[in-house]
Amino acid sequence: MTLPKSVRIVEVGARDGLQNEKQIIEVATKAQLVNELVATGIEHIEVGSFVSPKWVPQMAASDEVFEQILRRSGVCYSALTPNMRGLESALECNPDEVAVFTAASDAFTQKNINCTVDESLERIKDVMAVAEENDIKVRGYVSTVMGCPYQGEVDPEKVLEVAQKLLALGCYEISLGDTIGVGTPEKAADLIKLLKKHIPLSKLAVHFHDTYGQALANIYACLQQGISVVDSSVAGLGGCPYAAGASGNVATEDVVYMMQGLGIETGIDLTELSKVGQWISDELGRPNGSKTGRALLSK
Ligand SMILES: [Zn+2]
Repeated sequence: MTLPKSVRIVEVGARDGLQNEKQIIEVATKAQLVNELVATGIEHIEVGSFVSPKWVPQMAASDEVFEQILRRSGVCYSALTPNMRGLESALECNPDEVAVFTAASDAFTQKNINCTVDESLERIKDVMAVAEENDIKVRGYVSTVMGCPYQGEVDPEKVLEVAQKLLALGCYEISLGDTIGVGTPEKAADLIKLLKKHIPLSKLAVHFHDTYGQALANIYACLQQGISVVDSSVAGLGGCPYAAGASGNVATEDVVYMMQGLGIETGIDLTELSKVGQWISDELGRPNGSKTGRALLSK
């Protein structure tokens, strides 16, 4: 098994991360977070989400965050756009890409967006058409790929089916989300083994949550299967809405440290990244969720 020479990190802290933190932070702080993350070498970053502030108050004013950030060329600044209204607002901010999401479990989409997976794909179809008219690439998230908080086990064949449908709709990449962090390495590897029979590896990314402490092991198992795009969140920002007090997104610092040890290039300055992770943790008044960050900074 050969590991990839380089890995693209998709930094989700400013969106997926902050969205799941209790505190609401200032636009200027969010913009500073994005700018400082990019300054560490991150080239693909979620800036915000264009959803109703009624549902996700932490993501209100994502348009202002886009206005305040300094856009560096060569960096992909992404916006989550769950529906047409979200896409229309996002387009005014000129994101480099938008992201849509669904899940591999009907129980999950029913609870979260009040429709079946297939119905969610219908909505996504409309969003895709307008994104295409505007020449914006679309990334697709599939949630609950390793398990669902409502239905439990998720069939890998269902993950394959949903991923293929998103690709058929025009997504350029599918991010496979272990939303509740229940996956373990062999299960994760088996999922990739199945998917790569039908989907080019270059179109797949992984998004692991560390709820059960398995994220790095799972990422490693997927790297061995040829995955080379990994989502992560600075300082492990973002809790788990399905397990109070539990951790959510794997910390970017921990992922970068592991990549360095494996000789895999990420282009990210780990020391600088760790400083950003500590700064935003302090801003939020929360403990730094990165073990690597804490270790490096306590030296
Ligand atoms: Zn996440």
